[in-house]
Amino acid sequence: PRRVVVVGAGMAGVQTAVALREQGFTGTVTLIGAEPHQPYDRPPLSKAVLLGTAEGSAFDIDFEALALELRLGCEALAVRPDVHVLDTSSGPVPYDVLVLATGAEPIRLPGAEGVPGVHLLRTLDDAERLRPVLAEQHDIVVVGAGWIGAEFATAAREAGCAVTVVEAADRPLAGALPAEVAAPMTAWYAESGVALRTHARVERVEPGAVVLDDGTRLPAGAVVVGIGARPATAWLAGSGIDLGAHGEVLADDHLRTSLPDVYAVGDCASFPSGRYGERLLVHHWDNALQGPRTVAANLLGATSAVYDPVPYFWSEQFGRFVQYAGHHPAADTTVWRGDPSGPAWSVCWLRDDRLVALLAVGRPRDLAQGRRLIEAGTPMDPAVLADPARPLKAA
Ligand code: FAD
Repeated sequence: PRRVVVVGAGMAGVQTAVALREQGFTGTVTLIGAEPHQPYDRPPLSKAVLLGTAEGSAFDIDFEALALELRLGCEALAVRPDVHVLDTSSGPVPYDVLVLATGAEPIRLPGAEGVPGVHLLRTLDDAERLRPVLAEQHDIVVVGAGWIGAEFATAAREAGCAVTVVEAADRPLAGALPAEVAAPMTAWYAESGVALRTHARVERVEPGAVVLDDGTRLPAGAVVVGIGARPATAWLAGSGIDLGAHGEVLADDHLRTSLPDVYAVGDCASFPSGRYGERLLVHHWDNALQGPRTVAANLLGATSAVYDPVPYFWSEQFGRFVQYAGHHPAADTTVWRGDPSGPAWSVCWLRDDRLVALLAVGRPRDLAQGRRLIEAGTPMDPAVLADPARPLKAA
């Protein structure tokens, strides 16, 4: 190809552009991004950027030196695959190869749209709107005890706000972790002075209050909604690109879409995992770093690279560093390493004596060692795994 057009200038889009240059591509690379800001990293938005301890999180990349053309404040509107043209808010853009990297959008709380004081946390603009809210130390209600809700609650407590988290399920991270593993995390909320209300459904949001379906009225100077994210792919309707049940682009194991010359990577796409035997839709940073290298390699055609990562992510919440590698639904055995009421512990998931996933709380070495063992598929001795004093090693 001579002209590669990448849609979405977030982590996955930017990394695709950089990987193309790293792998020797000398043609035109155009990065199209809807946001007006210089491309930036999202994880600091719920951490340092929110607290104001970092000004911003722009990627430290010299786009000009790499001859990467940035078109910011430009929204992709449609693809015309028959003529290899991308329609955008600033006109048509021809491509030889198109890479979809439009990421995800936060799910909105029905009825809360347009109510003053209701916030989402996905973009730099969102974080900048939330900074003064923290500084003014309002009573804050967070809807959703997922990763974003927990990180936001942590920052808000650090800023001295009174925080209530309402969660429809019976525990935090209900969609992400098994009940027995999420259970010890419930205590983190109380310990940090956050009121966690489980089994709590929001009936409506009014200016200044969140009303639950049991009639409870929670005063709220601000409301932060963190109830998940969906692939930002509505603009692809009618393009002929196959989308899945969550609106995600259904990529193949080479991250190609159902249309020729169109790839998809990052939060907007799912891929079939050979390792775990199911399709994975990963909404984490590492996937937006690794996937682009595969896309660049396949797009340049030098090698045929299959994308089959061990997923990895981290979260910083309530003074703890939480890391996860792998995919536990494939497991048949759970082994605890250490006391989950203490400050540092891990959980190992095995399938047929092989490690398939690991969660580490304050044990980064377990994560590093575990991640390698998951990659390698080495048989393990559960007795060794269960002893937190012994390093994670093969049997
Ligand atoms: P995005 O980062 O969403 O980028 C996509 C870009 O495409 C956006 O800028 C969007 O505006 C643009 N776009 C969308 N549609 C169009 C269009 N039609 N035309 C043009 N442009 C378009 N992961 C972790 O592993 N650890 C963490 O601690 C962590 N913290 C996070 C904290 C926050 C607040 C958030 C929001 C996410 C966090 N994540 C974390 C997840 C991680 O940031 C994402 O997985 C990652 O950003 C995905 O990158 P992406 O490029 O696929 O998507």
